[in-house]
Amino acid sequence: MLRLETFGLAGIIGWPVQQSRSPTIHNHWIERYGLTGRYVLLPVRPDALEAALRGLPALGFRGCNVTMPHKLAVMPLLDRVDGLAQRSGAVNTVTVEADGSLSGSNSDGAGWVQSLVDAKPGWMPGAGPAVLLGAGGAARAVVAALAAGGAREIRIVNRTLEKAQEIAAAFPGTVTAYRWEDRAEVLAAAALVANATDQGMAGKPPLAIDLARLPPDAVVSDLIYSPLETPFLAAAKARGNMAVNGLGMLLNQARPAFAGWFGVMPEITAALRRAVEATF
Ligand code: NAP
Repeated sequence: MLRLETFGLAGIIGWPVQQSRSPTIHNHWIERYGLTGRYVLLPVRPDALEAALRGLPALGFRGCNVTMPHKLAVMPLLDRVDGLAQRSGAVNTVTVEADGSLSGSNSDGAGWVQSLVDAKPGWMPGAGPAVLLGAGGAARAVVAALAAGGAREIRIVNRTLEKAQEIAAAFPGTVTAYRWEDRAEVLAAAALVANATDQGMAGKPPLAIDLARLPPDAVVSDLIYSPLETPFLAAAKARGNMAVNGLGMLLNQARPAFAGWFGVMPEITAALRRAVEATF
């Protein structure tokens, strides 16, 4: 029989949310570590976000993840938001504290950095100029993590230049905004290029970019994990660049949230990767 006082409840708030792989990840860990609990999908309409958040402590939730379209809207509704989430301009994790107050954090950027370190041990954000394609929520989290890790030159390229300029203004001296038309030129001398647009995602057109100027030793990252190999990553691999997909980011961003809710820092194992890949 379940002991209710130790039953750990967590979930993911989004709209829509049924596409999320987070239940697969967290429920895998709950079983692996012999815990009693469940991680559930929480479809929450934008007009119900505040009521849903305020209901978390009463319902016995230890916290939740937050996905589109709520990652920004959730911020003013929380009791506190940590510095990295502030700099990322978004929250992806909410923790219910012992007194019932709600704390927000963002593990997307750090999860992405860790996925590159996992793929290339010793890789460092400050290794050289970084090019980031896209200026949405994920791009901003990546910029914040790169800057926190010591990156000195980040070139951000976005279809809507103003959004890239907004991010550049938040990281003066580190981030420079470029026009979408210049995306092939800015690859010159780059140590890293990352796709944080939705181009190349299943059902979307491939990312249109000429990689000719990219140095052969540059690391190429795509935040997309469905498909695991986007045309962008395939093109990078074909010319000899190291290519890293978004699955490692997805898995790594989940670790600190799980640790905060369930008290165990979980491991990313081959079995977990297989379980998540089976959902594609
Ligand atoms: P978002 O806030 O909606 O941003 C989307 C970005 O894509 C914007 O920069 C947008 O440019 C750009 N874009 C859209 N259509 C385009 C087109 N036709 N040509 C060029 N650029 C285009 O989304 P997000 O949350 O940042 O997510 C971005 C990507 O990261 C998605 O592929 C998502 O799956 C991935 N992601 C992965 C993880 C993970 O754990 N691996 C986590 C979060 C996100 P405009 O500003 O001009 O609209």
